[in-house]
Amino acid sequence: MNVAVLGTGSVGRTVAGTIGSLGHEVRIGTRDVEALMARTDDAPTFAEWITTVTSVQAMTFKDAATFGEIVFNATSGTASLEALRAAGAANLAGKVIVDIANPLDFSKGFPPTLSVCNETSLAEQIQAAFPDARVVKTLNTVNASVMVDPVSVGGGEHDMFMAGDDDDAKRTVESILRDWFGWTRVTDLGDITNARGMEMYLPLWVRLYGAAGTGAFNIAIVR
Ligand code: NAP
Repeated sequence: MNVAVLGTGSVGRTVAGTIGSLGHEVRIGTRDVEALMARTDDAPTFAEWITTVTSVQAMTFKDAATFGEIVFNATSGTASLEALRAAGAANLAGKVIVDIANPLDFSKGFPPTLSVCNETSLAEQIQAAFPDARVVKTLNTVNASVMVDPVSVGGGEHDMFMAGDDDDAKRTVESILRDWFGWTRVTDLGDITNARGMEMYLPLWVRLYGAAGTGAFNIAIVR
């Protein structure tokens, strides 16, 4: 499959690298490819990282979205609408958007607040802005490494959630979670408004991270 991953941070790289390693063609989207390749503020740099993965090429948000049959949103939550507008509504129409972003606002430091919450969510804002796309919220409740390797935590006996208005899109995403990433426990919370609960978990996730000293954990639902 041709896959677009919008976002070049740890999530975009982890998801793109994993999907590429499975034999899919991945285009990872950014604002400015030249600037991205010249960046030296992370280790490994993007230019170093991309030489270590297969079937992944960097291009603009617009070109990546045009290429992808399915689009992962792994951009900064406060900039996701801007990034998706750059991708272009016409290039997202009819496609599943797997929305991993969290609306975390670090402008006042740590811990972050949520830039949207309670009566709406980032996922709903994306769905409203791009009504012809099919947004499915998922994976935002775990860190990048757990997203693609759930077995690394508790042998995989823990839970992933998803929310979205389009049932066919959710079935597609469920298959991806299971077949590409190894998730065995996926709960469909219902329509896109249920993304509120998934995003509003983040204030607790951040504090659990502080208490545990690691991001390698997740929720296991026990009845
Ligand atoms: P990030 O630093 O939150 O986001 C990086 C991406 O956002 C880059 O591709 C960057 O574009 C883009 N971006 C930033 N400002 C922009 C703007 N003004 N306009 C357009 N694009 C902009 O990266 P991350 O840590 O990998 O997280 C990605 C998303 O996943 C976030 O929403 C985060 O909350 C969520 N998430 C992260 C984790 C995790 O483990 N880190 C876990 C769960 C969910 P350029 O490429 O052009 O720089």
